[in-house]
Amino acid sequence: MSTEAKFGTNVAINGSRLWDSLMEMAKIGATPKGGVCRLALTDLDKQGRDLFVQWCRDAGCTITVDAIGNIFARRPGRNNALPPILMGSHLDSQPTGGKFDGVYGVLAGLEVVRTLNDLNYQTEAPIEVVAWTNEEGSRFAPAMVASGVFAGTFDLEYGLSRKDLDGKTMGEELARIGYAGDAPIRGRELGAYFEAHIEQGPILEAEDKTIGVVTDCQGQRWYEITFTGQEAHAGPTPMSRRRDALLGAARVVEAVNRIGLEHAPYACATVGLMQIHPNSRNVIPGRVFFTVDFRHPDDAVLAEMDAKLRDAVARVAQETGLETEFEQIWYYAPVKFDAGCVEAVRGAVAELGYSNRDMVSGAGHDACYLARVTPTSMIFIPCVDGISHNEIEHAHPEWCEAGCNVLLRAVVAKADAT
Ligand SMILES: [Zn+2]
Repeated sequence: MSTEAKFGTNVAINGSRLWDSLMEMAKIGATPKGGVCRLALTDLDKQGRDLFVQWCRDAGCTITVDAIGNIFARRPGRNNALPPILMGSHLDSQPTGGKFDGVYGVLAGLEVVRTLNDLNYQTEAPIEVVAWTNEEGSRFAPAMVASGVFAGTFDLEYGLSRKDLDGKTMGEELARIGYAGDAPIRGRELGAYFEAHIEQGPILEAEDKTIGVVTDCQGQRWYEITFTGQEAHAGPTPMSRRRDALLGAARVVEAVNRIGLEHAPYACATVGLMQIHPNSRNVIPGRVFFTVDFRHPDDAVLAEMDAKLRDAVARVAQETGLETEFEQIWYYAPVKFDAGCVEAVRGAVAELGYSNRDMVSGAGHDACYLARVTPTSMIFIPCVDGISHNEIEHAHPEWCEAGCNVLLRAVVAKADAT
């Protein structure tokens, strides 16, 4: 039986309750400019976690916390031997973060539970709302570390030993705030994972679409490049005799941009950091260090971009007489979300009649790691002007409500399909 048959089109989550919860949570770590600063494993993060746990208990859920502080709130199903359907995101924020990034996916999950309680509706499989620890990677690098540990990408010891700038580890801080749990971190069978999130880009709003059906997560390749030429006086050194490291870097910046444009619309190619030595106005730059960030959802295209970059760097080095150090420092394979989960989202959107389009996530999310261990997909809602990681980040209440309605139907369809 489809959820439409069970629910009809008029069954819906409580949009104002969801909005009130978002605004209540945003008071914890509220900043003067209307944003949120709730860094992972600080006292404010503990307050946010405590409030979430309290709300989940009030909604009748059982709480477990694993060794890296991931919180799971479980609502039983008719058959509790079945693997649970998970939904969630993260409660931590950037230092100048907004009210929606991450917290929306967690509280949308809670609103699904509250709605099912109101309806007195029991799913076949149990469902769980999850809040992943330290998604942002701002206080402790890297990002998405706890969902990465959960998915087996990182060791638990690696996760717990991540340090902040004061030398405090995640393990110490988890213990200090009382969220070093004892639930096993691996080995639990899962039915599926759904993550609702703001888009963090401008496409949905610009096209006047309410829902993004997320089919893929972009792959990434990060590089560090150093060109070495020779420092020399800017006056007496003729142009023909120069080995200008910045000229070489500039030509690679141009090439990186061209590579991005050649693989439109999905490719992103960025030089975001550059250090010039000695960085003096009357000295020809002798050494330049810079970074390249490539993203694309198709691994083969990402490999093609890689080959073009290597060619460009070799050609420029030859033209300019520079020595080159070239290293790919990070590779993150593209993720294709599960066809069944994407269909569950699509089906929900169709039942509800929301305008929508397929999307590729340009940012990393906990869902990108979860996809390695369980069928996964994501639901995007617009955010105003595509702005996030910013105190002015905003999503209208009707967008929040729509995404949560989709989440409700997708989760129930999956929980009852088993
Ligand atoms: Zn996020």
